[in-house]
Amino acid sequence: MPKNSMEIKVLVINAGSSSIKYQLYQMPQARVLAKGIIERIGDEKAKLSHFYNGKMFCLEKKVENHQEGMDLILDTLTGKKAGVIGDIGQIGAVGHRVVHGAEEFTGSVIIDDKVIASVEKFVDLAPLHNPSNLTGIRAARHNLPDVTQVACFDTAFHTSIPEVAYMYALPYEMYEKYRARRYGFHGTSHRYVARKAGQLLGKHKYELNAITCHLGNGCSISAVKGGKSVDTSMGFTPLEGVVMGTRSGDFDPAILFYLIEKGYDVKTLNIMCNKRSGLLGLSGISNDMRELEELSREGNRRAKLAIDVFCYRIKKYIGAYLAVLGGVDCIVFTGGIGENSASIRGQICSNMDLFQIMLDSQANNRAVGTDVKISAQDSKIAVFVICTNEEAAIAKDTYELTSRTKR
Ligand code: AMP
Repeated sequence: MPKNSMEIKVLVINAGSSSIKYQLYQMPQARVLAKGIIERIGDEKAKLSHFYNGKMFCLEKKVENHQEGMDLILDTLTGKKAGVIGDIGQIGAVGHRVVHGAEEFTGSVIIDDKVIASVEKFVDLAPLHNPSNLTGIRAARHNLPDVTQVACFDTAFHTSIPEVAYMYALPYEMYEKYRARRYGFHGTSHRYVARKAGQLLGKHKYELNAITCHLGNGCSISAVKGGKSVDTSMGFTPLEGVVMGTRSGDFDPAILFYLIEKGYDVKTLNIMCNKRSGLLGLSGISNDMRELEELSREGNRRAKLAIDVFCYRIKKYIGAYLAVLGGVDCIVFTGGIGENSASIRGQICSNMDLFQIMLDSQANNRAVGTDVKISAQDSKIAVFVICTNEEAAIAKDTYELTSRTKR
């Protein structure tokens, strides 16, 4: 740790529509003091799961709204039963995950009324996420009014994508009037694993060329050139790109016009594309990759089809990004599937010798939940499994912005 670096505790908040995830970090060491989640906010009974000092504390009670949720988090962090700090005065800064920062936010920022007004403006672009993120910000500001609060945007890393990659070939006024363009998401994760890969290769962060594959329930692939995102598979919304747990990814939009003519309404089609498609839609069974892998091994044809389409599409994106980047130093797998499934990584990287991508099958099979190289010695392009940690990235940004203002 550098001399004179400021020591503070940073609370990271990720507020969803009916949940709040939190982690309390000791910075700059990035040591997690406690973490947890409140689920089912607004229901009959909400559930708090709180992890601290190697122990777990659970509680079920009615939590009416996000403000009550934030009260419960702060009470738990400071409480006698499972607390890790004496009082909330020990929290030096709060970092918030915010999904959509549109073209305005190219990095994390200290939250003020102007930032809140912008996040509100972008609710239109992220109607499912920005409102919940805002309720989290408002609740934290209410409880900790004198504490620096920072917003970290999922879209920020992708604001370096050039016009040629973010424009859709729709009438230009759709962009001018409605800002209909590629924004990309999962940016905090892509940036985090790209920086980690740079460290593993001993490269400066702005020298790394990589393809990062975030494969979880939501999936996206990014092309990273000189440490910056130059293309990504998710688009105007997270629906575009590769196949996901319940999202379709790319398909011909004319299918939607055709289905509208057959009597489907817009709301039903929206739900179909976002919640009933992807691995779930193809298999007709589940969006859970573990379950599909098991069923596929037992001979279930639709489970196998879902996995095959999933891997095929990712391979296709990797090929496209290799062409866009003109070669890369490495490919990174992250997210629940990317970090844990050797067989999916193996299937995606199969028959890629032509591109100088070869896995070490033993290293691949061993790699679970660690940051490790899984490519063979003679593979020109390194392949890594890197465990993403969006919360740590948010804590770091929050710490850096806070210590800059306190200097
Ligand atoms: P995430 O959204 O990053 O939490 O990832 C969730 C996805 O990761 C789900 O499809 C899980 O089935 C998948 N996943 C988690 N562990 C494994 C595993 N060991 N093997 C295959 N898929 C896994």
